[in-house]
Amino acid sequence: MNNVLKLLPNEHLRSYLFRIHSQSPFGAFSKTVARFGIDTYTASSATTLQKYDYQLASLVSNDAFETWKKHGDGNSMLPFMDKNELKATQSCFAHEPLQLSTIYASTVHNSLWRFCEDCVEEDYTNYGTTYYHQPHQLAGVFHCYKHSKPLITACNSCGYQLKNISKLPIPPINLKCPACNNRMVGDEGYFDEFMSTIEKHSFALNQSMFAWTLKDVQQANLKYIGFSGDNTKTLAFNRTCTDWYKDISVSIGSHALQRYFSNTKQIDCITVSQTMRTTRMFLADSKNKFSPPLIYLLALEATKKI
Ligand SMILES: [Zn+2]
Ligand SMILES: [Zn+2]
Repeated sequence: MNNVLKLLPNEHLRSYLFRIHSQSPFGAFSKTVARFGIDTYTASSATTLQKYDYQLASLVSNDAFETWKKHGDGNSMLPFMDKNELKATQSCFAHEPLQLSTIYASTVHNSLWRFCEDCVEEDYTNYGTTYYHQPHQLAGVFHCYKHSKPLITACNSCGYQLKNISKLPIPPINLKCPACNNRMVGDEGYFDEFMSTIEKHSFALNQSMFAWTLKDVQQANLKYIGFSGDNTKTLAFNRTCTDWYKDISVSIGSHALQRYFSNTKQIDCITVSQTMRTTRMFLADSKNKFSPPLIYLLALEATKKI
């Protein structure tokens, strides 16, 4: 552990080396990360586990796993892992090769970085620097956890999006877009009551205060669909599931779905996202890969509204 490195309050694990880099005279970012023994990486805020999460957490803490939980995606991901995935995650933090693969993570809206204009001002006053906050990057979240302001993620003038933070290693104090220099403003896109509930659940999940786990969700959905584990291999089951996917998509609504996912499409005049469609939603023995935790929160709330 290198004592020079410290995470700021609620700082996102994958962003702190960019902050260090922005304050250092060492030229390219690849040189900064090489100094700390990490392969260079493009920091994405998509909800996944990567080898560099372990490496980055080890640099700032003697308990890398706890650090990943609080400053990375650990708290959001762990409740929705099956036994094998939990084992793979623990192995990764025991410095073994990473064997957890995820699917569709980058189709979720939080693959773009976000920041809050009030936090920028406060952080600069309190710490002399701005930085990317972990709770701002959560899937399902569109507002600041402290100030409730809509988060900034793109430039309305030129369309620049914060896909990775190499151009903007720390949020700009003057909020100027790195591409066109115009002032970036908060994302005032579609947001309804349902999305507000999901936002609250996402914050709770991030603080280990969301009661549901993968098993609970699977049991509840299976019950709702009206089947038991014994008759899930039938054609009738597949048809009923297809109807259920359509029902929850209608319940969430096209505007909200388009805000959450980049891969929505129209099927039979209904807006759907392939990301939501996985047997992990209801089968304990599903062979589908780890999916973004957000889909379970959406399915739970959407089913209540059907
Ligand atoms: Zn804020
Ligand atoms: Zn711009």
